[in-house]
Amino acid sequence: MHVAVLGAGVAGVTTAYYLAESGHRVTVIERASAVAMATSHANGGQLSYSYTDSLANPEFLPKIPSLLLGLDPAIRVRIIRNFSMFPWGLRFLTQCTRARARENTLAVLKIALRSATLMEELRRKTPLDFAHKEVGKLVLLATSNDVRTAEATSSLKREYGCETQVLAPDDAIGKEPALAFMRQDFAGAMYAEHDHVGDALAFTRSLSDWLRTNRPVRFHFDRKILGLDVQKSRFLGVKTPVGSIRADAAVVCLGPWSEPLLTPYGVRSNLYPVRGYSVTLPPGRYAPTVSITNLRNRIVYSQFDNKIRIAGFADFAGFDESRDAQRISLMCEIAKRAAPDAADYTVQDIQPWGGFRPVTPTGQPNVGATGIAGLFVNTGHGSLGWTVACATAEAAASAVTHSE
Ligand SMILES: Cc1cc2nc3c(=O)[nH]c(=O)nc-3n(C[C@H](O)[C@H](O)[C@H](O)COP(=O)(O)OP(=O)(O)OC[C@H]3O[C@@H](n4cnc5c(N)ncnc54)[C@H](O)[C@@H]3O)c2cc1C
Repeated sequence: MHVAVLGAGVAGVTTAYYLAESGHRVTVIERASAVAMATSHANGGQLSYSYTDSLANPEFLPKIPSLLLGLDPAIRVRIIRNFSMFPWGLRFLTQCTRARARENTLAVLKIALRSATLMEELRRKTPLDFAHKEVGKLVLLATSNDVRTAEATSSLKREYGCETQVLAPDDAIGKEPALAFMRQDFAGAMYAEHDHVGDALAFTRSLSDWLRTNRPVRFHFDRKILGLDVQKSRFLGVKTPVGSIRADAAVVCLGPWSEPLLTPYGVRSNLYPVRGYSVTLPPGRYAPTVSITNLRNRIVYSQFDNKIRIAGFADFAGFDESRDAQRISLMCEIAKRAAPDAADYTVQDIQPWGGFRPVTPTGQPNVGATGIAGLFVNTGHGSLGWTVACATAEAAASAVTHSE
């Protein structure tokens, strides 16, 4: 089949790979001038195979009033003129039960563990260069209640083949001595030995370069997708400013922009764009090697390619970018206060970046067929898009192949 892949982020490029491996001819269509120019560009750099815990959970509910009042600096919620948030928010609230949180955490864990296996396989088969390091991850837990919840989740995950340990603060410092120089108390930490770090942009670029020379995959850049050619509930082609690109099937990998493209065709993807930020700095005197997620501040620190990537925050304000400079500066200030020696915060060029996570109410990605014959989706990867990319791409390619 000739398959069009819509979007050249990490989801689109990995989808192109698995489609090509299944014997299809692929055309990737992207509005930017290169791959990974949107949300896959400068994310936290974590391959977080073990930490798939659902954002929607019962502990989230009591935090809502303080979030709406703007009391948590890491989360900005803009209610006024943000109508699309209401239906999404109501669906999100229905997921905040113990049973749903467990179901969603395990569903994403299953995908992440499959992705870990596929990433190993991909690295063996292709000479990808993306500063990949098998360094493990520590999630800092703020309160003793967080520690108890992490212990319960950890034993649940163990039943599904995922090994994580909940450590006392001193044992966490034993794993990552740089934690001793952080200026923030923590009640414990969840340690995932098999989580990795790397550069998602370099991964996506490297894979697309390899595809271009080794597989029947073409990339059309600077082509904004205007719509789809759909007749009698059958996909026929993709409309661009320079004409229609006809294909036997298409996989929509447009991240949060999938929703506006698909809605006119009656396909609901339930995505909300949740903005987050990053800066990339030289390592400081006590830079962590193990990647760190600080749950209290919602900030991650990852070291790869002799740089420290600091990423985080979650803004529910639609596709608004007007506050980026302010939010990035606040994130840096908080990151520095918590870990003053992790990075050199004095450099001029902090490489500021913002991206829109494509988040579903359940936290589970949308992968597979739609109600339109020949039209498939691979979106909604939320905070774990690189982590789950290989498994969701494999599933999307398999759905296309089995529709033949
Ligand atoms: C601050 C932050 C930190 C993160 N940290 C991590 C992490 O540590 N680990 C992890 O696994 N994940 C992380 N994520 C999440 C991850 O980055 C995303 O889930 C992932 O990048 C989504 O990939 P995507 O390909 O679906 O979307 P994108 O990368 O956004 O790709 C969509 C593509 O579609 C293109 N497009 C959109 N509309 C059109 C159109 N009309 N025509 C043509 N092209 C179009 C865009 O230009 C873009 O290239 C983080 C996200 C953020 C914001």
